[in-house]
Amino acid sequence: MVQRRRHPAPPSLTREPGQTRESNWTNWAGTYSVQPQRRARPGSADEVSEVIRVAAEDELSVKAVGAGHSFTDIAITRGVLVELDRLRGVLSADPSTGLVTIAAGTTLRELSPLLWQAGLALPNLGDIDAQTISGAISTGTHGTGQSFPGLAAQVRALQLVLADGRIVDCSPEHCPDLFDAARVGLGALGIITTVTLQCVPAFALRAVEAPAALEAVLEGLANTVQNTDHFEFYWFPHTKRVLTKANIRLPADTELDPVGRVKGWRDDEFLANSTFEVVNRLTSAAPALTRRANQVAARALTPRQYTDRSYRVFTSNRRVRFREMEYALPRKSLAYVLSEIEAWLARSGERIGFPVEVRFTAADDIPLSTAYGRASCYIAVHQYHRRPFDRYFSAVEKIARSVQGRPHWGKLHYQSADELAPLYPRYADFLAVRDRVDPQRRFGNDYLRRVLGS
Ligand SMILES: Cc1cc2nc3c(=O)[nH]c(=O)nc-3n(C[C@H](O)[C@H](O)[C@H](O)COP(=O)(O)OP(=O)(O)OC[C@H]3O[C@@H](n4cnc5c(N)ncnc54)[C@H](O)[C@@H]3O)c2cc1C
Repeated sequence: MVQRRRHPAPPSLTREPGQTRESNWTNWAGTYSVQPQRRARPGSADEVSEVIRVAAEDELSVKAVGAGHSFTDIAITRGVLVELDRLRGVLSADPSTGLVTIAAGTTLRELSPLLWQAGLALPNLGDIDAQTISGAISTGTHGTGQSFPGLAAQVRALQLVLADGRIVDCSPEHCPDLFDAARVGLGALGIITTVTLQCVPAFALRAVEAPAALEAVLEGLANTVQNTDHFEFYWFPHTKRVLTKANIRLPADTELDPVGRVKGWRDDEFLANSTFEVVNRLTSAAPALTRRANQVAARALTPRQYTDRSYRVFTSNRRVRFREMEYALPRKSLAYVLSEIEAWLARSGERIGFPVEVRFTAADDIPLSTAYGRASCYIAVHQYHRRPFDRYFSAVEKIARSVQGRPHWGKLHYQSADELAPLYPRYADFLAVRDRVDPQRRFGNDYLRRVLGS
């Protein structure tokens, strides 16, 4: 039986006499920090293999880190922390098939402009592009759009270095069970060195953003989601207001009409970043002001439309630090879950300044994907990094669990293996692959022990 744990305290290590330790590594959200025994920056698959071999000799665990943008301790290791920033760039791109092979440490921010130059694009992206491609797929990163699954569903082949040092190329044809599991592999199966993605012809997006009433959006939701390529909305807690975002796909040669400098600065930098930081500091000191601040924010965002390259519309900068939990839900449960959160906020007296983000994706067939076998709706709750999140997130988790919600692997949650296993029909298949390729848990860490049971 796996122990159910609260959000665990960040692991801290004391320096042992005579041992040289590396400097601290901290994730973006500041939720976890660790001092690994060693850091490695291999520049090839062979060097990754050597790092693993030497770590095994020293009986150290090994963990690849991407951009550190997971809120959980999924990327934490006390052993050898492997940074892949020397493995970057596009290795091959075939515009006729759309197949592109990239080095594992490439960030989405680096990748998208390179794809655009080749007349290609990723069909969908999440809110930001700071992540590495391997980090993003490993936790099931997704965007929104009812016909579009998460990023991992675009993977056509992977090169992995396994715990015994072997370099394996896997795809639906070669080592299909390893390929199947490793697309959302939680960093548990090996170190990815290359990723082959199915891309699509480059496209532009027309973005239509507008404030609206929550009730009206929920009423027309099925239609809106069905008829909009990429639809999402942000609900401002303690109000009945939302901001809707609809992105419509257009050919790449459409005349672009990017967000105006002044308006872009006003909405993105001023309202979403700089001012939002000040508002959060203020409401942290005086939580009673939160409701009023949310009302003002919901009204301040006026409608806007713009057209730009797809990746520039999908992603934006997030400079205000926050903590996040996100649950994948069956679509039909959304209205119930939102109303339960609203009722809990009213009952509890908790004041939340961050909007709740709601997105939609297609189902996929990846064993540990949060959208496995079901078209999903994602509901993400956030809290400013200087404010406590535990009570709010626990309450939301309880509601999401009551409708068989599955937590995002890279975002905070309190679930452990015995609770997660029944949510994933192919959970046992994943464990079987892991037992075969990493019987000694070379890639293990506290997070994986919690969510996979060993
Ligand atoms: C501001 C912000 C916005 C976000 N927006 C979204 C969003 O819109 N949609 C969404 O779904 N998620 C979102 N996330 C979550 C984020 O996409 C995931 O947590 C993602 O995994 C982070 O990628 P990373 O490169 O930082 O990986 P890390 O967090 O560094 O690592 C994640 C996992 O990948 C493993 N890993 C990394 N590289 C390799 C490798 N080469 N081989 C094997 N395993 C590897 C690590 O060991 C770890 O298990 C957001 C996070 C933040 C902080």
